[in-house]
Amino acid sequence: MTELETIRHSCAHILANAILRIWPEAQFAAGPPVENGFYYDVDLPHRISPEDFERIEKEMAAIIAEAQPFQREVISRDEALFMGERGELAGLTPRPEASKFKLDIITRIPEGEEITLYRNGAFTDLCAGPHVADTSKVAAFRLTHVASAFYQGDEKNPQLQRIYGTAFPSLEEMENWFAMLEEAKKRDHRKIGKEQGLFHIDDAVGQGLILWTPKGATIRQELQNFISGELAKQGYSQVFTPHIGKIGLYKTSGHFPYYKESQFPAIPEPDQLERIASEGCGCAEMTARLEAVSELFANSLNERAGKEIVSPERVMDPTRLLDGFMLKPMNCPHHIKIFASQPHSYRDLPVRLAEFGTVYRWEQSGELNGMTRVRGFTQDDAHLFCTEEQVASEVQGCLELVKKVLTTLGMSDYRVRVGLRDPDSNKFTGNPAQWDLAEQACRDAAATLGVPFSEEPGEAAFYGPKIDFVVKDVLGREWQLGTVQVDYVLPVRFDLSYTGADGKPHVPVMIHRAPFGSLERFTGVLIEHFAGDFPVWLAPEQARILPVSEKVAEYAQKMVAEMKGKGIRATADLSPEKLGSKIRLAQLDKVPYMIVVGPKEEAAGQLSIRSRQRGDEGAIAADAFIQRIESEIRDRTLTV
Ligand SMILES: [Zn+2]
Ligand SMILES: [Zn+2]
Repeated sequence: MTELETIRHSCAHILANAILRIWPEAQFAAGPPVENGFYYDVDLPHRISPEDFERIEKEMAAIIAEAQPFQREVISRDEALFMGERGELAGLTPRPEASKFKLDIITRIPEGEEITLYRNGAFTDLCAGPHVADTSKVAAFRLTHVASAFYQGDEKNPQLQRIYGTAFPSLEEMENWFAMLEEAKKRDHRKIGKEQGLFHIDDAVGQGLILWTPKGATIRQELQNFISGELAKQGYSQVFTPHIGKIGLYKTSGHFPYYKESQFPAIPEPDQLERIASEGCGCAEMTARLEAVSELFANSLNERAGKEIVSPERVMDPTRLLDGFMLKPMNCPHHIKIFASQPHSYRDLPVRLAEFGTVYRWEQSGELNGMTRVRGFTQDDAHLFCTEEQVASEVQGCLELVKKVLTTLGMSDYRVRVGLRDPDSNKFTGNPAQWDLAEQACRDAAATLGVPFSEEPGEAAFYGPKIDFVVKDVLGREWQLGTVQVDYVLPVRFDLSYTGADGKPHVPVMIHRAPFGSLERFTGVLIEHFAGDFPVWLAPEQARILPVSEKVAEYAQKMVAEMKGKGIRATADLSPEKLGSKIRLAQLDKVPYMIVVGPKEEAAGQLSIRSRQRGDEGAIAADAFIQRIESEIRDRTLTV
């Protein structure tokens, strides 16, 4: 337990203690610390609601004020059972009812393991600890909400009330935390997305499927243009591939059927489907026939891998196999087939294939969340095929790209995680010497970034080491965004090769990388990061001209046409509203530049500029303003 978790778990004891002072019959189950707080599960006829919180918190505050020491006591199993029978565990005194959940917990403690009590004041709990020295160390706490939960998470067990709270080592830290939560609510991308009309999710289309509205699509297009420009500089080639591929591709890659829980089901070929339906084939059989492979397929894959990766149980008579398609869960196999479509010499390498490739994953509906957890998303994906000697410089190039992306967007607070293999685990394929080289390459590349990085053994993908960028947003929340992964496995599985300087065939190394991760998730994070105030290059509407009266409507339209001609996203508000309400509307729409024009501006060929960040800037020559906004867009400046 961390220090903070210890404070929070200790507060759970204080909560139980307080509840017993009010409802002595309460029975308690588990009270662990959780992310952002703690809970305690309680069984009580009274239904606890937020209206009860004040009363409970008052008792908790009294217990904290008493600075009751937490005292540890080792007892025998028999003593523990005796106390449980008397209702003393998670109790204040012996009670007519046994501590039924605690008695059950005792039966789950392995024989020979130490059983401990912790007491504070009159309250005794069965607990392994640790706790703070005394109750006063819980300097700040608050009850937050109540939910219901089955004992041990099993719906056959009684339903309990789960009381949630949080605690901090100081009042200031707690106040900061709740202020941050408030701010996070204001910045919620689902809320801002709706207010500004950036994207839409429609039940008729499907949950977790993002409809990019014109404004959101503008942001996405700008992000794509930005990445495409950087990729061109780094010598990538753009490719396009379809949204589906034959099942066999994913059987070869190993993504099917092993990850089928997170994929949409396979789509059988229509003529085969008709045939098997007429034969009376059921769903279960159809699934088995889609998932199986021929003996030839199994043997050749096993031979290439040098071990049994397709078990004999998956082999079926080829006449019974069904063929079909999958919505692609990843882009790698398609890119591999582009690489394999022509012979390569070592002189062609590295080959860098990039695509904004849309993939589909099955997420449980409870997991879906706005743009950040979806069922269809577009990766800013690329696959690099290189020689072993090129891995280090290619990984470094990928990291530079992610760094450029994050810096341009003002996400300068990030750390880098280098996922290495766990030397004691055998789930990592490939040869150890190759791994050592690749890991050193990743470490060296990470070190050149000039940002803190941590090495995390056991966090590699099974096919090679990887590097993740973990970005802290303005609220201090961490998001895992860009990733770079080195892969020795897929090239072998797909039998890739190039001709080396020695004239012999060699297996290339693959690197998978995506600086944004997915455009959906990244845009969701960006909306929250900027709180909807996008920098001018990303803003769906970059400038809005507000004529003070109808007399200057023509001048306003002329200016809009001129800006549009230069690629600036400008509009004019020609409504009959007063200037004040036009300004308010433009502010609500978060337009970076509001431009007021009246007869005076028209006569002088000027524009009165109001920048969202700098406020009123007065009248300047129209040409000068257009030049300025053009350069801000071109340079992707963050402030306007
Ligand atoms: Zn405890
Ligand atoms: Zn990939």
